[in-house]
Amino acid sequence: MEHRFRTSRLTRGNVVFPTEMVVTDRLVTRIKPSLVGRVEESISLRQVSSVTVSHGALFADVTVHSSGGTDPLRSHGLTNAEARRLKHLIEELQSNILTAGVADLSGLRPCPRCAETIKVAARVCKHCGADIPIELTEEAASDAASGAGALAAAAPAARDDEDWTWS
Ligand SMILES: [Zn+2]
Repeated sequence: MEHRFRTSRLTRGNVVFPTEMVVTDRLVTRIKPSLVGRVEESISLRQVSSVTVSHGALFADVTVHSSGGTDPLRSHGLTNAEARRLKHLIEELQSNILTAGVADLSGLRPCPRCAETIKVAARVCKHCGADIPIELTEEAASDAASGAGALAAAAPAARDDEDWTWS
């Protein structure tokens, strides 16, 4: 997961090498390209203490403050809408960290028993200890329910046996 926010070339300091703000599920990074390479400064998402946006007529100044003692990341030249989106994104990811322990919720789902957030691939819930039914079981159940006759039901079962023998 990576979100990029590029400043406008129309703004001061961004004409040739526009500054970029990049947000991942771990870091907020300010990338300033230059002739001799590029300068990257990052703040861990968990250490962002606040995001302030100062709106102008068209463009905004964004400051990402750190609680970790590092300098804030300053960006000049995002559009007002992009600046607002950047602030909301960081706040949303931080709230995910508080409630679910991670910023990126895409690999997660609620436990069917206790509704706490667990990984999609989890077989056992880390909160309530429930065994998570694997999807194959559900498929087999619905196949059996929709099966027309005994023959139809027996055929897939025989294939399953063969799989077990050879695997
Ligand atoms: Zn659970």
